[in-house]
Amino acid sequence: MSATIPAPVGRLRAVWDRPAVRHGLLALLTAAVLLFPFVEGDDADIDSLANAAAYVALALGLNIVVGFAGLLDLGYAAFFAIGAYVYGVLSSFQVLPAWSPFWQPFAALHLVEKINQGGGDLVHFTLSFWLALPLAAVVTAGCGVLFGAPTLRLRGDYLAIVTLGFGEIVPIVARNTPYLTNGAAGLNGVQAPHLFGYNFTVQATPYYYVGMALVALLIFTSIRLRDSRIGRAWMAVREDETAASAMGIDRTRAKLLAFAIGAAFAGAVGVFYVAKLQTATPDMFGFPVSVMILVMVVLGGMGSVWGVVLGAALLSLLQSWFLPDLSEWLHTLGAAIGNDWLQQIDLARSIELIFGILLVLMMLFRREGLIPAARHAPSLDFAAQHVQGVQRGGFDGELAATALALPEPGRGNLLEVRGITVRFGGLTALNGVDLVVPAGGVVAVIGPNGSGKSTLFNVITGLVPADSGSIRFAGAEILGLPPHRILAKGLARTFQNIRLFANLTVLDNVLIGQHARLSTGAFGAVLRPPRTRAEEARALARARSIIALFGNRLAPRAAQAVSYLSYANRRRVEIARALASQPKLLLLDEPTAGMNPAETLELAEQIRSLHALGLTILLIEHKLDVVTQLADTVIVLDHGEKLAEGRPDQVRRNEEVLRAYLGRAAREALDAA
Ligand code: ADP
Ligand code: MG
Repeated sequence: MSATIPAPVGRLRAVWDRPAVRHGLLALLTAAVLLFPFVEGDDADIDSLANAAAYVALALGLNIVVGFAGLLDLGYAAFFAIGAYVYGVLSSFQVLPAWSPFWQPFAALHLVEKINQGGGDLVHFTLSFWLALPLAAVVTAGCGVLFGAPTLRLRGDYLAIVTLGFGEIVPIVARNTPYLTNGAAGLNGVQAPHLFGYNFTVQATPYYYVGMALVALLIFTSIRLRDSRIGRAWMAVREDETAASAMGIDRTRAKLLAFAIGAAFAGAVGVFYVAKLQTATPDMFGFPVSVMILVMVVLGGMGSVWGVVLGAALLSLLQSWFLPDLSEWLHTLGAAIGNDWLQQIDLARSIELIFGILLVLMMLFRREGLIPAARHAPSLDFAAQHVQGVQRGGFDGELAATALALPEPGRGNLLEVRGITVRFGGLTALNGVDLVVPAGGVVAVIGPNGSGKSTLFNVITGLVPADSGSIRFAGAEILGLPPHRILAKGLARTFQNIRLFANLTVLDNVLIGQHARLSTGAFGAVLRPPRTRAEEARALARARSIIALFGNRLAPRAAQAVSYLSYANRRRVEIARALASQPKLLLLDEPTAGMNPAETLELAEQIRSLHALGLTILLIEHKLDVVTQLADTVIVLDHGEKLAEGRPDQVRRNEEVLRAYLGRAAREALDAA
């Protein structure tokens, strides 16, 4: 059975998905970029394209922060400024300390030279452009970490405000430290790059090629990062921070990394831009620049590498090519019809207004940008949706054993919760609760709504702090550890209110579940050594085989965005994602809620087959027949306290439980049965 895709879309996708087509297009684009200066002799046009390259590169960097990791940064130009001043100051006549023997080794490395300006020997900084590119990237990445560490706790609007402030502060500092920056007048005498003795001076063509090379490098880096463990972690954080950390992602680290890499891109572009202009003034890095880069990202498509390239190139050329041309045309028109206003109009000066109008139009008609980031498989058609029957009998034991590769259950008590108390202000959600889950066992927690069951899961998985008590997992205390470290120890969960990464595919969700079991870092993701390739291939194969366990419920939908799935299928994906982390203990919070009786039975059998594979399970469940069928031990919570504990049949007959939980009617029904 295959998914049916509307014919024209399917054909276009099939064409694009052929590597030969993509490589062919890329080769054409490269050829066009390389040949442009030979075809077009006009220096001004080449210069416009070199500037466009700088903006494309900046937009690519901001795309990592905003598009990949979902952090709204309104002060991105600050990093652009820092990179620019690193090179500007270290390769100009701005700062000229007195010469001393201290500088001798630097002179030997050609970083400085001794000059004489009347009054005595001075130090002239002569940092090479090529050295400045990586240096500025490292410095700005460091600034990104320094700035991000205290602020990235904030989300959404708050982060936007703080970054806005940072974006304002940097140019102000530049304006007010004339010793370093020459203030508003700008740096003078910034050195032009040299390559093998060739001086770039103020010609457009060499900058054009350097700019294009920079863009190519950043596109490559962006794509490699996006399609890696790192990129998936960013997108998980973007979609749902809490779920991301519960699935093993260190969210602070992921966000800092995005911030640092985004800043590094801006730093390198700053060097390029300053070298090209051979000056730097604080005005070049103000708020309008940050906004313009953001508009480029939004216009192109947040998170879409090629979309951002297109968006930034279009807006940049709009400013330098189309608007001046259009203005001139309007002047001619104005002269012809004798209209003064038309003769004086200068559209390039209304660029902010034009950006605003473009943005509004995009939001109205193409919210996901020119080239949307997500290319999901469309939903299955009616027939394909209805071929599958209920799958009885649980998972295929052998397939599941290889796909899940679960660790050994071990011996003794896997989880020991002692005297856990959790208060939310005046409300005591849990009051001195004890709970023991033996290795290889299935324990169910039942209780009326609001009795603290989900809070118990939250405290075990580190999402909610406890006021007192202790939680030991496999013999070690885990209370107080952050969620991602608890997952790494082998404790995975699902959420009562399903917290999947809604805009990512089923496959990506399950891949993210493996995050803690994989090790690729940022450098590995970009350089992709054989080890990383092998790890990625293994992860993909595992994700596919875990999805395959759910048969035609999930397998035909692996490439669909989770938000397209039915409720029951989302529950299955959440379980698949948790299983992907190779847990020792699986916590399921009302896994059958919202499922019909047939689906409930199907899932109960699957949980039983997980148990048969040795997985220890802690389950919150309302459906008593499911509990009776699965659990060895049942714990009843009421108002945050443990009311009863025992085998399912014992608990079912317990007077207090019947009163608190089932109510009189159910009790009478039970008696009658
Ligand atoms: P259950 O899962 O058994 O239905 P919960 O654990 O979700 O119950 O909730 C227990 C009690 O704690 C409820 O009264 C709920 O309103 C409260 N509660 C849960 N989480 C929070 C929170 N983050 N802040 C404040 N109160 C909460
Ligand atoms: Mg609950």
